Amino acid sequence: MIVTAGAIQSPAILLRAGIGSPAALRALGIEVAIALPGVGSNLRDHPALTFCQFLPPSLRLPLSRRRASFVALRYSSGVEGCDRSDMYITSAARAGWHRLGARLGLYFLWCNRPFSAGHVSLVSPDPGRYPSVELNLLEDPRDLERMMAAVRMLARLVINPVLNAAPDDFFPASFSPRIKRLSAFNRANGFAASVLGALLDVPAKLRHLVIKQFLLNGIAFKDVIEDEQALADFVRRSVFGVWHPTGTCRMGDPRDSHAVVDPSGKVIGSENLYVADASVMPRLPTANTNIPTIMIAEKISDALLSTELSLA
Ligand SMILES: Cc1cc2nc3c(=O)[nH]c(=O)nc-3n(C[C@H](O)[C@H](O)[C@H](O)COP(=O)(O)OP(=O)(O)OC[C@H]3O[C@@H](n4cnc5c(N)ncnc54)[C@H](O)[C@@H]3O)c2cc1C
Repeated sequence: MIVTAGAIQSPAILLRAGIGSPAALRALGIEVAIALPGVGSNLRDHPALTFCQFLPPSLRLPLSRRRASFVALRYSSGVEGCDRSDMYITSAARAGWHRLGARLGLYFLWCNRPFSAGHVSLVSPDPGRYPSVELNLLEDPRDLERMMAAVRMLARLVINPVLNAAPDDFFPASFSPRIKRLSAFNRANGFAASVLGALLDVPAKLRHLVIKQFLLNGIAFKDVIEDEQALADFVRRSVFGVWHPTGTCRMGDPRDSHAVVDPSGKVIGSENLYVADASVMPRLPTANTNIPTIMIAEKISDALLSTELSLA
């Protein structure tokens, strides 16, 4: 049997089958089949923040270019004990498909090698109840420190005469429900975004007032960047995971009490139960997670097939 339900649901399936921490299982009235305390722990995701910058007309992409162009920067934070290439920033010359998006550059920054870990746990044995998911993205102070330094570095890089030298034209983006709704591709959103976009093409002082009052609840973001406490609060409040959950059925040495699957993907202590998805990653890759997940699944299926063939 091969479980491939992803890093949130695979541990939930194992837990409901009685594979997990005995104390947590008994608390929910689930009979313990295999005691493996690591199931659901070690939940990792890349902590991320997004920013926008008003683009002068000369830097805007024509709407006929369907895709934004991207440039990415991978760099080392230099914070003690952190891996090289632990930080990542992408920039896109358009923040959306519409006329508002065409006026804004979009920056995405994240920590490739976070130390913080969260967990997935059951709230009920009922498979109809979604498990509890705690990302704990900035639990480790080194992750907060690196995210704060990255915000300052990004601001230094992009508040620049080549792009736009006005600090008030650089501000945090938001994936609020309203912005998400505006991203849907339809005529009504196209019209609304062209009105909103036109509101940005006004003299700079007026635009900065619009950005401050309507997007930042009256706060000047340049003041936040310069104030250690305000920046820490902003990062804690705004950080989100980039949909790269991993690690909740961690692969490892069977003697490691928190490993869940052995190096072949087999659930430790089981006869014939495998996990083959992002949940087996012991730690996050220094990259997006889709291709590494496919690679893991290919390796596990190759190993299973070769075992089958040698037994035949
Ligand atoms: C919005 C979003 C954007 C992303 N963008 C990127 C990107 O640009 N680049 C990149 O590399 N990665 C990206 N990722 C991450 C990437 O998609 C994942 O790392 C990858 O899909 C993980 O694969 P998986 O097999 O572990 O899990 P999944 O792809 O989630 O597959 C699990 C499958 O199991 C099914 N399932 C769950 N529970 C059950 C159940 N109880 N019974 C039956 N079926 C079940 C689910 O429906 C799903 O089809 C993104 C993810 C999201 C959500």
